[in-house]
Amino acid sequence: MIFYRPNNLKNLFELLENSNATNYFLAGGTDINLQTKNIPKNVNIFYISHLNVLRNITEINGHISIGSTATFSDILHSDYLAKHLPFFQNSLKFFASPIIQNLATIGGNIVNGSPTNDVSPLLLILDAKLELISKNNSRIIPFNSFYRGYKEFDLQKNELVKAILIPKNAENNLETFYQKVGARNSLTISKITVAGLKFIENNRIKKIKIAVGSVNEYPRRLVNLENYLITKRINEIKKDELTKIIAVEITPISDFRSDQNYRFVVCLNLIEKFLGINF
Ligand SMILES: Cc1cc2nc3c(=O)[nH]c(=O)nc-3n(C[C@H](O)[C@H](O)[C@H](O)COP(=O)(O)OP(=O)(O)OC[C@H]3O[C@@H](n4cnc5c(N)ncnc54)[C@H](O)[C@@H]3O)c2cc1C
Repeated sequence: MIFYRPNNLKNLFELLENSNATNYFLAGGTDINLQTKNIPKNVNIFYISHLNVLRNITEINGHISIGSTATFSDILHSDYLAKHLPFFQNSLKFFASPIIQNLATIGGNIVNGSPTNDVSPLLLILDAKLELISKNNSRIIPFNSFYRGYKEFDLQKNELVKAILIPKNAENNLETFYQKVGARNSLTISKITVAGLKFIENNRIKKIKIAVGSVNEYPRRLVNLENYLITKRINEIKKDELTKIIAVEITPISDFRSDQNYRFVVCLNLIEKFLGINF
């Protein structure tokens, strides 16, 4: 195993090109350091967290660009995000603990690809995009298309997440909702997460987005549910129809954190809470 600390992005891509082992990016290390048993022997590790070009929070073409190695502390303490994306920022307050927040990066959270990750449901409802770079290419994809299965992504060999792009007006004039349910409030991994955005006019749903985490093999939008809800009046929503659609769209499992039934019932309750329904 060789550990590399490249001087800049150009140097990183040159080193990657010349490496003849399996390459791993190392950002905060809060996931990868726990997986040492699963990492094959013939690997090269490329540290990226010191590369400031990957860490900036800036504005580009009407989007807020959050560098992939921005830590959760960077995000939680950013005045810029407090001004433009306060819902996104506040929702991440319950990410891990301050010590982990100082190390863990948003890019690592996305690429580790845990179904329980805190950030994905937010990025899904905020219509985020990912900026991906490799030696000779740069591309932007909708975040919605990044995950393809459990820990399967639209990411090529030696390709890096450079930044996360969120439309600057993504939260404007919308009612927002984010709830992460864990075993306790602090330092907890999600059992169910629901994120939502809605705009209701004259009691009718004019805009709605709902994303869930920890109840499928990767976090996702509940598109069929959104299609059912759009243009309905709140009092037209039927409990049995809502339950039926959610039962098809989520596939919770039982594990050491929760059982399948608990996850289903709590997910349904959170969605009803977001919609402001009391059946
Ligand atoms: C005690 C503890 C508590 C935790 N609590 C939470 C929690 O509340 N919520 C939550 O969501 N997670 C939690 N986690 C998980 C972890 O902290 C996060 O997933 C974190 O964001 C990972 O980021 P990292 O920088 O540490 O990633 P790393 O461990 O450095 O990397 C993770 C993976 O991403 C890849 N990677 C990293 N950056 C990039 C990039 N820019 N481009 C391409 N690939 C990249 C790496 O190669 C690796 O495969 C917790 C972990 C611990 C140890």
